[in-house]
Amino acid sequence: MGKLELRGLRKAYPNFTLELDLSVEEGEFLTVIGPSGSGKSTLLSLISGLESPDSGQILLDGKDIVPLPPQKRSVGLVFQDYALFPSMSVEDNVSYALKVRHIPKKEGRQAAGDLLDFVSLPGYGKRKVTTLSGGEAQRVALARALAGEPSVMLLDEPLSALDAALRRHLRDEIRRIHDEDRGLTTVYVTHDREEAFAISDRIAIVKDGKLEMAGTPEEVYKQPATLFTAFFTGEGTKLPTALFNLDKDADTVFFRPEAVAVRQTIFYGDADSWLELGQAEVLSSEFLGRSYLLGLRWQGHPILAESTVHPTSRHADLYLDKSRLIFFKDGRLVP
Ligand code: ADP
Repeated sequence: MGKLELRGLRKAYPNFTLELDLSVEEGEFLTVIGPSGSGKSTLLSLISGLESPDSGQILLDGKDIVPLPPQKRSVGLVFQDYALFPSMSVEDNVSYALKVRHIPKKEGRQAAGDLLDFVSLPGYGKRKVTTLSGGEAQRVALARALAGEPSVMLLDEPLSALDAALRRHLRDEIRRIHDEDRGLTTVYVTHDREEAFAISDRIAIVKDGKLEMAGTPEEVYKQPATLFTAFFTGEGTKLPTALFNLDKDADTVFFRPEAVAVRQTIFYGDADSWLELGQAEVLSSEFLGRSYLLGLRWQGHPILAESTVHPTSRHADLYLDKSRLIFFKDGRLVP
């Protein structure tokens, strides 16, 4: 069990108000992204019970958990800074939640050992937490949160203190733990959009305490509900629609770098599928591995384009893939 529904959830601080509705399906992995200060941590604090909302409901399997204290909510929480008990061994940290649940000591030790196996730390029970690396400490924090047998797991930037290679490895582990522990609804907060795309069933984008959009990684990237979402989920260019002869009730057209074809030779694209922009100046080129991200200037407007070849001159002809143009009016998607 673990269907989570936030209904009319509201929390006001002097200079900030969180106000949103959001549902997370049982067993779903939902990632919340948004700029710093957009309310991601506040959202997790409300769900976990560290903070109380001014109004609204937090339904877990249909039951409002707002009146319940944190330890009675069946919600596990993992922070960026581990928050382990430094004076305790790994095993005691993990079995802490088991003790709270009055599980006998011997069974508790067994369960803690099983959990440490599960997070790929077999035999670590007797280690002092002060001797662990960052990645190991975060696995212990995960095991400790899992020991409470939560219905919902909340992870607040759990990987941001780790280096890139470890982050990648541990994010795959977190997804594996989620998949193997069936029904463990997970809400994951990160500021790393690549991480969000890699790990999530759905992504929720928040801005100023409001939900901009929630959707699958493909939806938020290809059909962003707002212009803000479009830019927050990846690179792109926006131009006024007035520049083109496009039959669309919109004020802005947005496109990803891969929607631009950059040619220095004759291009045989057909006019029905491609919008010919004409010549642009190549200002910069960033090597991405499989391709180049080009910074271009076209009629005074900056445009980002992806190209598999490095341009050989300062000028190139641009074409836009009409099927990949995304239109907005007043910042909202025009379907
Ligand atoms: P994020 O996690 O997205 O960076 P936070 O949820 O931490 O954002 O913060 C959202 C806003 O709420 C920020 O402007 C922050 O200053 C404010 N805020 C958070 N907690 C408190 C508090 N206890 N008192 C006053 N303001 C707070």
